[in-house]
Formats: sequence, structure tokens, C-alpha cells
Amino acid sequence: MATVLVVEDDDFVRAAIIQELAERHAVRSAGRALDALRDIAQHPPDAVVLDLGLPDLDGAEALKMVRGISDVPVIVATARDDEAEIVRLLRAGADDYLVKPFSGDHLNARLDAVLRRTRAGGRAGGPAAPAATLRVGGLALDLNRREATLDGTPLSLTRREFDLLAYLAERADRVVSRRELRTEVWRQAYGEDQTIDVHLSWLRRKLGESAASPRYLHTVRGVGVMLSAPRD
Ligand code: CA
Repeated sequence: MATVLVVEDDDFVRAAIIQELAERHAVRSAGRALDALRDIAQHPPDAVVLDLGLPDLDGAEALKMVRGISDVPVIVATARDDEAEIVRLLRAGADDYLVKPFSGDHLNARLDAVLRRTRAGGRAGGPAAPAATLRVGGLALDLNRREATLDGTPLSLTRREFDLLAYLAERADRVVSRRELRTEVWRQAYGEDQTIDVHLSWLRRKLGESAASPRYLHTVRGVGVMLSAPRD
């Protein structure tokens, strides 16, 4: 059981979120950013769900202050389905985001993912925990032998494709920006996003899926790409 701090000023929304989470987690709540900061400082939770429309502080400001005192995973909840804003928040240290209104299942799935990443060792955005074999659904990557299988069938990947897939698998369920892929996988400060897109489409084909009906590789328009186990 994890301790989750829900920061939300709307009583109705807060009660609904708490109800969704309380079955599996110990839930605390705060209605104002400054109360949340005090709470985080005094009793560090395992994860924070942070509403961005709080009465006392702008959401991005609140996130910055949380990051100033804690490495706790933060899922931001925003009413604005605004890509520029979401990119800004992910860069400002949010681990994931939800656009309101969201379902309890969706919230729980995102929360499980950030908690899993924390327990696996590395924090999102930080160095991932070293593991010999990475598994995401039916996908398995042996990092020592540099071999990948999908549902037990070997995948024939180029060196770059393997690196790309491994990088995403280490950060499963997190949206990784093209810029991050370019600097971390391609080791280039500048370059064409097209190169990355082409590799992603090759990879997608080898995984037996398409951009139109993704299973493992999900493109989040304007933000980046995410590797996730299929839900079916
Ligand atoms: Ca609000």
C-alpha cells in the first residue's frame, strides 16, 4: 500500500479521487498548494496527484516548489488539454499528467506506473535501475545479449532500434520526448525529428503494429512517444 497525497481544491472532485484510490492506497489530501507543501515536507508521501488549478498558487509554480523539496513522483491533473502546457509541466518535473475529466481506472493505472518506476529504483527522468532483462507485456529485452523477443519470437533489430526500444522499455508508461531520444539515444544535440520518426515506424513494423492501431508504441502528438504493455 502506498501513501498518496491528493491536492485538489474542489471538494467534489477531491472526494471522488479519494474514493477511487482509497481501496488500495492510504490517501491524504490538501486543498491548497501551501498545505500540500507542508504535508510533503513533514510526511513524505509515495506519490502526489496535483491539481493545477489551485486557489493559492499557479500549478506550474506549485510543481516547482514541490520539486524544490522532494523527488516524490507527481502526476499533474489539468483541465487544459494543451500540449504546450503539458510539455512545460513534464519538463518542470511532472512524472505524468491526466487531463480532466479522467476515470478512476485511468488514474489508478497512471499511479501504478509511477509507483512501479519508483520501486524499480531510478526515478523517472533519472537513471533507470540496471536490469539484465526488461519486460513490457510480451516484450522481453536481454540487455546483456542485446536480444529482443516478442511473445517468445526473436525480433530482428538493428543496433539503433534495439537502443531505442531499450531506452523506452526502461521508461515504460512514461512519455519520452523526441528531444530526449535525440540526446540520449542518438547522442545528438540537434537533428531532425524525422530521423527518429522513421526509426519509430520501422520499430513499429517489427512489433507488428501501426501508428493507426498501436499496441506497444504510442505517439502522444506534440509530446513524444511511450512504450506500454497492451491493455488487451
Ligand atoms: Ca481546482
